[in-house]
Amino acid sequence: MSDSPQYITYEMPAQHVARITLNRTDQANSQDTRLLYELNDAFDRAAHDDDVHVIILAANGKHFSAGHDLMEKDYGKNMAEFRTVHPVCGFNCGGVESQMAREEEIYIGFSERWRNIPKPTIAAVQGKCIAGGLMLVWPCDIIIASDDAKFSDMTVTIGVGGVEYFSHVWELGARKAKEMLFTSDEFTAQEAHSWGMVNKVVPREELSATALSMAERIASKPPFALKLAKKAVNGCMDAQGRDVAMQNAFHLHQIAHAHNLKKFDQLIDPTGLPPAVRKVGPVKG
Ligand code: ZN
Repeated sequence: MSDSPQYITYEMPAQHVARITLNRTDQANSQDTRLLYELNDAFDRAAHDDDVHVIILAANGKHFSAGHDLMEKDYGKNMAEFRTVHPVCGFNCGGVESQMAREEEIYIGFSERWRNIPKPTIAAVQGKCIAGGLMLVWPCDIIIASDDAKFSDMTVTIGVGGVEYFSHVWELGARKAKEMLFTSDEFTAQEAHSWGMVNKVVPREELSATALSMAERIASKPPFALKLAKKAVNGCMDAQGRDVAMQNAFHLHQIAHAHNLKKFDQLIDPTGLPPAVRKVGPVKG
């Protein structure tokens, strides 16, 4: 995009450290299409700048991210406004094809792209991190959470079997992954830390400084060695079949959307929601 960003800030708070901050605080940093493209542009900028050795992803406001903005005006109809970055076609073909193309581009596509940036990335998370919010923090290499952080994937409640970047099993282990999905419960930062999903839990007022301090320590190491270490660890996960399993889950996710569109005329199944909010569900894809 050529416009200046509306929802993302970019700064260099220390030598060799870039900090990208979500700044759509009036919507709890929910992710509409614009925010995701702006975030991708910021990650590209940091990835391409050889002076940047470590990238911090942070968020302004009370909550890290409320997830995807399914109430977005013109949801699913505005892809032509953006310079798409993946070899995806069918945005304008209608039906499930358009929905799948959109999600290949801005959901699993972006998250996987950020996961593979050849530099260490650190997510600093406070408040709620819901569903699509996980798709911003899970691709990062390190997650530091404040003690008020809460994580959830409530997509089963709305008739889908997990977010589009289906990394749950690698993040939580199979049993906790199932518990998170089946119950839609929120989990605390301390619980996530005990499972190995979170590296550190710190008081809210220390979150930013802790992330920056770790970023500076990492940034003092040789960047090429950092790149190789990251590639080696990510390669271990891929050798376990992570990427193939994730593609499988993504296609199951598309079946859920197709089912819901056919049965409920919207992307979600509203029957799991409290009756008072069922009519406030997402618009059609
Ligand atoms: Zn979806």
